[in-house]
Amino acid sequence: MTKQVAIIGGGPAGLMAADVLSATGLCVTVYDAMPTFARKFLLAGKSGLNITHSEDFTRFADRFGSASPRLRPALDAFTPQDVRQWAAELGTETFVGTSGRVFPKAMKASPLLRAWMKRLEAQGVTLKTRHRWTGFDGNGFRFTTPDGEITIQPDATLLALGGASWPRLGSDAAWVPWLKEQVIAVHDLQPANCGFDVAWSNVFVERFAGAPLKSVSTTSDAGTYPGEFVISKHGIEGSLVYAHSAALRDRLRRDGNAALIVDLMPGRTMERLARDLARQDTKASFSNRLRKGAGLDGVKAALLRELSADANRMSTEQLATRIKALPIPVLRPRPIAEAISAAGGIAWSEIDERYMLKSRPGLFSAGEMIDWEAPTGGYLLTACFATGRAAAHGIQDWLSDR
Ligand SMILES: Cc1cc2nc3c(=O)[nH]c(=O)nc-3n(C[C@H](O)[C@H](O)[C@H](O)COP(=O)(O)OP(=O)(O)OC[C@H]3O[C@@H](n4cnc5c(N)ncnc54)[C@H](O)[C@@H]3O)c2cc1C
Repeated sequence: MTKQVAIIGGGPAGLMAADVLSATGLCVTVYDAMPTFARKFLLAGKSGLNITHSEDFTRFADRFGSASPRLRPALDAFTPQDVRQWAAELGTETFVGTSGRVFPKAMKASPLLRAWMKRLEAQGVTLKTRHRWTGFDGNGFRFTTPDGEITIQPDATLLALGGASWPRLGSDAAWVPWLKEQVIAVHDLQPANCGFDVAWSNVFVERFAGAPLKSVSTTSDAGTYPGEFVISKHGIEGSLVYAHSAALRDRLRRDGNAALIVDLMPGRTMERLARDLARQDTKASFSNRLRKGAGLDGVKAALLRELSADANRMSTEQLATRIKALPIPVLRPRPIAEAISAAGGIAWSEIDERYMLKSRPGLFSAGEMIDWEAPTGGYLLTACFATGRAAAHGIQDWLSDR
């Protein structure tokens, strides 16, 4: 008898598991709550699908913080090069951008997803949309469907339900209490790769919400990174902020306060700035001295004044120091619904090396619902693909053992 495998959640992790398992002839059904599959994957493609990264593999595999050692076997078995090869087999050629990030030539996810779904159908995968898992029913899994409630009891099941960001795309983390009821440890889901609230004045927000701070350098416990970020109505956002978001979030939780340090003029040393500022006519307005002496105007000058009300009374040395290291105190991360990804999830201590939940033999997990996080740069999707494959191999092993 062909073994039945249920995959609940049809995002990148679940679909990858379906791909591997159906290729071995198992009977695979993918269930998703939404009317179509992989909505977050499609959205990810809207702003240029960053599918993986080309940096040195050891460095790549280290980007997952404390989860790196646990993820390593899955990443070893499905490296960034394998991601590119897999995409190419589905007709999507990729290229390495200037930052080392890897993108499909078409930049979007839709052609890749279309080809992928076609292959899954050709491999005999049953695809069920509008099937929302609503919890356990003894050894079974209960769903609401357009035709009413059903309970299934497959030979093995993979949960690939994603985290909690952008819930309107399907991953709403409704599963958290159901797993907790089964005494499975789930670490709090928290925003990752997110913006932060800042207590801007009304005047500043009215004038500068949406303005980009270009060519700056930023520092936190995560390190120092150059780039640009955006002033938002609520605070700060953009990829440069995301690079610091885990460090800022963790410091806020630990100390109750945190600040992103911005170098507004990374091209000039402190000494040179102080010298250039000192050369300005003391009778000139502060704005003119800033513009002519430090090259600061527009949103950069406004940010300096917003955060240093006494800037115009500072000595040139003090002013140069502030321009080179302006702290932006952050109040809290933006809500998880707005984040690119989620930190937290099923604790690694609950999962064996086959990605099976130790307390529920036959139940596996993959993707963002497990407790790991990574910066943007293609790391998230690569780990979702890799854990989806690893769980699929785990399911195969477990079924053949039986
Ligand atoms: C705006 C945006 C841009 C991004 N850009 C990138 C990028 O360029 N590169 C990158 O690496 N990553 C990117 N990401 C992150 C990446 O998309 C996610 O990490 C990835 O999609 C997670 O895959 P997953 O399969 O674990 O979960 P998901 O993609 O979240 O899929 C989970 C699936 O489970 C289904 N589901 C949830 N609950 C139930 C239920 N109760 N019953 C049935 N089905 C259910 C959902 O409908 C969904 O289809 C981006 C994310 C966002 C929001």
